[in-house]
Amino acid sequence: MGSSLRQRMLFVMIGVLIVTTATYMFLVQKEVEKEMSEAEEQAARNVLRLVMLNIESKYKDLLFYKKAALERHKRELKNVTSLVVAHIDEYYEKYKRGLLSEEEAKRQAAEEVRRLRYGNNDYFFIVDRNYITLSHPFPELIGKNVSDLKDIKGNYVVRPMMEVALKEGEGFTRYWWRRIGDERPVEKLSYSVFYPKWQWMVGTGVYIDDIEKEAKKKLDAIIEELRENFSKIKIGQTGYLFLFNGKKQMIIHPYLSGKDVSDVKNKQTGTYLIEDLMKAARNPEVPFEYLWDKPTDRGNYKYIKQSYVSYFPPLDWYVASTVYKDEITAPAEILSRKIFYLSIVFLGVVIVLSMVFSDTLVRPIRNLIKVMKNVTEEGTTDIQVPIEGVTETRQLGEIFNRMLKSINEAVEAKDRYARKLERFNEELERTVQQRTRELLEANKKLQELDKLKTDFLSTVSHELRTPLTSVLGFARIIKKRLDEVVIPSVNIKDKKTERAVRQVRDNLEIIIAEGERLTALINDVLDIAKIESGRIEWREEDVDMVDVFERATAAMLSLVEGKGLYLRKEYEVGSAVVRGDRDRLIQVVTNLLSNAIKFTDRGGIVCRVGVREAVVRCEVEDSGCGIPTEMLEGVFEKFKQVGETLTERPKGTGLGLPICREIVKHHGGRIWAESEEGKGSRFIFELPLKGVDMTVEIPKEGLIESIQKHMEDRVGERILIVDDDSAIRSMLKQYLHDRGYETEEASDAKEAIGKARSLRPDLILLDIMMPGLSGYDVLRVLKNDEITRDIPVIVVSVLEDKQRALMLGASDYLTKPVYEGELFDKIKKTLGEKGDRHKILVMIIDGDKETMKRMAMAMRSRDFEVIECTGDKEEIIEGLRRSPELILVDLDILEGFKSLLEDEEIRDKIVNTRFVYMIKGGQRNGEESIDSG
Ligand code: ADP
Repeated sequence: MGSSLRQRMLFVMIGVLIVTTATYMFLVQKEVEKEMSEAEEQAARNVLRLVMLNIESKYKDLLFYKKAALERHKRELKNVTSLVVAHIDEYYEKYKRGLLSEEEAKRQAAEEVRRLRYGNNDYFFIVDRNYITLSHPFPELIGKNVSDLKDIKGNYVVRPMMEVALKEGEGFTRYWWRRIGDERPVEKLSYSVFYPKWQWMVGTGVYIDDIEKEAKKKLDAIIEELRENFSKIKIGQTGYLFLFNGKKQMIIHPYLSGKDVSDVKNKQTGTYLIEDLMKAARNPEVPFEYLWDKPTDRGNYKYIKQSYVSYFPPLDWYVASTVYKDEITAPAEILSRKIFYLSIVFLGVVIVLSMVFSDTLVRPIRNLIKVMKNVTEEGTTDIQVPIEGVTETRQLGEIFNRMLKSINEAVEAKDRYARKLERFNEELERTVQQRTRELLEANKKLQELDKLKTDFLSTVSHELRTPLTSVLGFARIIKKRLDEVVIPSVNIKDKKTERAVRQVRDNLEIIIAEGERLTALINDVLDIAKIESGRIEWREEDVDMVDVFERATAAMLSLVEGKGLYLRKEYEVGSAVVRGDRDRLIQVVTNLLSNAIKFTDRGGIVCRVGVREAVVRCEVEDSGCGIPTEMLEGVFEKFKQVGETLTERPKGTGLGLPICREIVKHHGGRIWAESEEGKGSRFIFELPLKGVDMTVEIPKEGLIESIQKHMEDRVGERILIVDDDSAIRSMLKQYLHDRGYETEEASDAKEAIGKARSLRPDLILLDIMMPGLSGYDVLRVLKNDEITRDIPVIVVSVLEDKQRALMLGASDYLTKPVYEGELFDKIKKTLGEKGDRHKILVMIIDGDKETMKRMAMAMRSRDFEVIECTGDKEEIIEGLRRSPELILVDLDILEGFKSLLEDEEIRDKIVNTRFVYMIKGGQRNGEESIDSG
């Protein structure tokens, strides 16, 4: 089936039509056929019935005619006989009058009667009272006694006549008698009259078959009439009626009339057909079927004929109808065919109409689609949909035209806005570039200012310290003198004097205390300035942090006890050695302890040292006033003190913690605080455990395995997370830590740029929407800065503007919310682009060619890429130019190699070389290993 509206409509319409027509044909046609066949059969039966009625009425006529004929004959007999009697009476009169003797009169009368004839040679006879025949045409009977005369049936002939004549005077009797000139006896009707004067019985008779003959003529006329009628009656097309009698004689038949059909057989059963028909007459309402041939197909007895047969007993007649059965069903079939052809014509007409109708309906929709296509594909909106078809499609057209108009307007508006947006964007771009330049300049200026400030602080502090030392020194001397000399020699009994002395003493103490505080402040300022400007000398030695804590706590113990606090030490390890400056580390712990004592009035202090995954973790916990959460980060900033510094007397300089942070930072560690306000604070710092630095000592034996293991163990890439939302930062941090990455965080653009420059992370995850400068600005700055240009950046944002991010130099783009899988796919992809992690480029420098070859082979088999060097200077330089990630140098060549590194160009080539292993030169040089620096 097609999918267009028109095809579907046509399909449905034609389908409905076909189904309707088929159903009609199937149900109605069957019914019609049945009804018509029945009607046809009924017609045959009716015809037969009518014929039978006709025969019956004709037969009644015949009977009536017969009766009338008999009566007429009787009357005739009576009349003629009365004439004869009158004649005899004449002779009697002659005798009476004496003209003739009685004997002569009787003889002459008898003689005269004997000669009388009438009708069909009919005659009279006279028998006397004694049954003696007196007159009769048959001379042999004259004078004979006929009282015992019997007819062929054995009945008396004369006696009944005599009896009725004697009894009634006259009467009719029947008997069988032969005709004159005929030997065959026939039934005769006699009339006898008694003539009392001579005691004679006069009789005459008429032969009944004469009446019958007349009746037969009448019957023949009836048959002729029937034949005429039958010939006019057609059953079906060729069916007809025929009539035969009980003697199996065909009376009326189109072509078998008068023939004897008694031996015609039923071809189907082998019985005599005429007998079958006679039997069928017992059920005139039930059709009798038999096989017959056809005039067009003679001798082929395979066509079914259907007959109805009725019997008319009075005449022993059988009337039958016969017709080929197919002629009965033919009209029904013709009608069905007509219905069928009509349906087809009707179907055709309806299909054409449906097509026309569907076309009128669908054409406007097609036009509509065409217009819409133009609109969507070519963007032309100035076309109009033609208004045509039925009301609905016209309305649709109008609506579409209106819609097109709106779209046109909207498109124009969009274009206007797009142009505006473009201009706006350009402006924004310029502004951002301008801001970026300003920012960079400001940044530079800030750095300069910072240096300036440090220098200033250092100078001023130095300048202040000298006079302050004098002030403090003199104040102490004055106090000493006052206590030792002045006070003892003064009369303190005088109230006024006593008060003055006390005031002087108190004031002196204040001067000393403030002086000391000022000195400490200046020292701290100097200290931090020195650290920040890098002008401090750091010592490098093994420092046991447990020892550091022991020394610091010992120094502070008196203060702790003075405040009535407890001091608990929880060392998880016997020793925790780090590399660094012992005194500075003691300074850190002392500082933390002094703060803890300062801000704790109840409870006490706990010190902890532990080792965790290559880090020494140190804690100073107190049960003091605590620090508000929002201040936790701030306390490490210079001059930041919790509380109102202006109204409350500050208890310190506000520089202690910044100094601590600088010291810890210098040792490659970090420091932070955790606190719950009112319950206490905990200051924690972590330092790298000694020996877990980038330099590893590896024996030559099992070297490759060690290298591989170390490469796998090596600290993961460092990723800078830039997002103003701390929750997101912490989430990303957790994800990354779980996968072994190191993380750094920045909460705004400024911090991000700063950290990117100072930490040079392997990757930056950058948020776009941040207060102040946006992530795009950060991206622009980073990509314009030589130092940060190569750090790949993945933009993580809710904004879906991947294009812009990529254009500004982002490596990839992630949309918030961030899913772990996607995040790491992108990180892996981005970091992977920097270099194939599996093919680590290793440079092996070994004077012993055989050893070197063996090592190179072994390393290649483990998927390293190897540069082989036997120690030739040119060769080494060539190798270093390829920036190997790992260099293995034999100790014998080490000195020469180191001298090569003094060349700046070569040093630049190996800035990214993470590991330089100095391996032992075989057994000769013992266990010595050298750091690469
Ligand atoms: P200060 O010399 O003022 O102690 P620091 O830099 O050492 O300077 O400390 C800064 C501020 O941090 C302090 O003024 C104090 O408000 C807060 N602080 C430091 N340590 C603690 C602590 N253990 N308990 C409560 N507050 C503390």
